[in-house]
Amino acid sequence: MCTKFEKTLLCLILSIFTYTPPAAFGSEPKPDSGKLAWSGRMQTVLDVAKPLEFDRGKRLPLYLWPAINSGKLDDQTAELLVKELDRRGVGLIGSWSPRRRDDSLANGLTIARVQTRLGLRVNVNANACTYHFFNGDERTAHVDEAGKPFWDESFDSGSRKHKMGCPFALDFRKDPMREQVEFFARAYKEAGLKIDFVFADWEIDGPIEYNRAFDASKRCARCRERIKNIDDFLEFQRALRKIRSELQRYAYATPITSRFPDALVGNYAVYPHNGYRHWYDYFEYFVEGQPCLVDQRARYRVWYDDFPGTGFTFAMPVVYTWYPTYQWYDFDDSDYRWFYNMLLVASNAGENTPSDVPIISFVHWHTTAPPDDPDPKVKQLSREAYQELLWHMLLRGTDTFFLWCRQDEDAEEVRLLHEVYAAAQQYAEFLEEGTPVSFRVPKQPRPVVSGLRLGGRLLVRRTDFGSSAKRASITVGDREVHVSPMPGKCQVLSLR
Ligand SMILES: [Zn+2]
Repeated sequence: MCTKFEKTLLCLILSIFTYTPPAAFGSEPKPDSGKLAWSGRMQTVLDVAKPLEFDRGKRLPLYLWPAINSGKLDDQTAELLVKELDRRGVGLIGSWSPRRRDDSLANGLTIARVQTRLGLRVNVNANACTYHFFNGDERTAHVDEAGKPFWDESFDSGSRKHKMGCPFALDFRKDPMREQVEFFARAYKEAGLKIDFVFADWEIDGPIEYNRAFDASKRCARCRERIKNIDDFLEFQRALRKIRSELQRYAYATPITSRFPDALVGNYAVYPHNGYRHWYDYFEYFVEGQPCLVDQRARYRVWYDDFPGTGFTFAMPVVYTWYPTYQWYDFDDSDYRWFYNMLLVASNAGENTPSDVPIISFVHWHTTAPPDDPDPKVKQLSREAYQELLWHMLLRGTDTFFLWCRQDEDAEEVRLLHEVYAAAQQYAEFLEEGTPVSFRVPKQPRPVVSGLRLGGRLLVRRTDFGSSAKRASITVGDREVHVSPMPGKCQVLSLR
C-alpha cells in the first residue's frame, strides 16, 4: 500500500524518467509552462536546422551565433539541448563572463559536463574575457610632448567611443586580463573537464595600426621614443602587430593551451594570409597614403603576418557581405561583386594556412553593416550565389563555418548555411582527407571551379558567372582537368 505522499513521489520520479522535450522541434508539444527552457534564438536554430541525413563523423560541428547564449540550464535540459543540436551537426557554445563569473562558470560547467559525457566537443565563447585592455585608465593613453594624455578617436563610431590609447602603455594590463581567462580555464581543469574549442571576437581594442592610429602615434612622445623610424608605416605596423599578437598569446591563448594542449583557440579575423587584407571591418576605413594593393576601386591593405605570434591553433577568416564591397567593382553580374571579394578572402586563408591548422570561417549573408540610408543600387547577394560560395569555401580549405548574424536574421541565415553544411557531409572523406587543388579567383565574371583531391579522385564544383565561357577547367598538378557545367551540384572525377 502506498501512502499519498509515496504515490506523489513515485509520480515525480516517473515524470523525471519519462521527461518530454520542452518546446518545439517542429510539431513536438510545448512545455506546460509555455516558457522555453532555453533562449528563443536557440529554438529558432532547432526549428530551422533539420537533423543530419549523413552522419557528421569526425568533422567539426557547425557553430552559430544564435547557439551561444542558451540561458541557464539544468543538467537534464542541457543534455537534451546538446543532443538535439548535435543531431543537427551544431555545437552548443558555453559563455564565460568575468562580470558574472560565478553564474557563467556554473552554466559553462553544466554544458561542459554533458558534452564530455556524450563524447562531444566542449565549446566556449571567451569573448567577454578579452575586453578591455584599453579600459579607460589614463595610464593607457598616448602622451603628447607636454606630458598630457590623449586618445586616438579615429575608432569611434557615432555615439560609441573607443578609448584607443598607446600601444606601449599596456604592460600593466596584461596580468589582470590574463586572469579573466585563467579563472575559467583553471576551474574546468579542476573539475576534470576538457576544452576543445574556444573563440573570441576581440576587435576594437589593443593596438591597431589603421584608421588614424599612425597620426596619433606620431604625436605621442612615448611612441616616438619606442619606434625608431616612426615615419615608416611598415615599421610602425610591425611594432604594433607584435604587441597585439603578444597580448592575444599571453592573456588569452596560453592560459587555455597550457592546460588543454589540444584545444582549438582562435580569434575573429586572425588567420594566415598572403600579406594583404581584402576587407574592412565596420569600424575601419582607408586613409590615403597607406600601403595597399589596388584592384578597381578596392584598396587591399598590407597586413602583417600576425597569426604565428598569437599561439592560436585555428584560423578564423571573416567572409562577409560588407556593404562597401559592392561598389568597389564594376562587374555587370551583380552577384559576382560580392562573390569575387568573398572568394578572395576565403582563398587567401585556404592557400596560406598550414593543413594541420583548421579553418573556421565567420560567414554572414545579409548585406553587412549598411549605413542608415543605404544606396538602393547596392543589391544583396542572391541566396543561390551565397550557397555556391559556401561550397567553394569547403573545396578551398574551410573546415567549418561560424555564423554571425542579428536576431532578426537568424532563421534565414541558419537555413542557408545549414543546408550546405549538412549536404556537404555526403563527401565526408574528401572534406576530411582531401587537399584543395586551386585557389584561382577569376578577375572577371566567368566559371569558378574549386576542387579537393583525394588519391586518384577529384571532388569538383563549377559555378558559372557571366555569359561567355562554356569551357572551364581546373589545374591539378601539371594537368588541366576539364569540368563540364552541372549547376548546383558537385562532381567526382577520376584522375586516372
Ligand atoms: Zn603612444
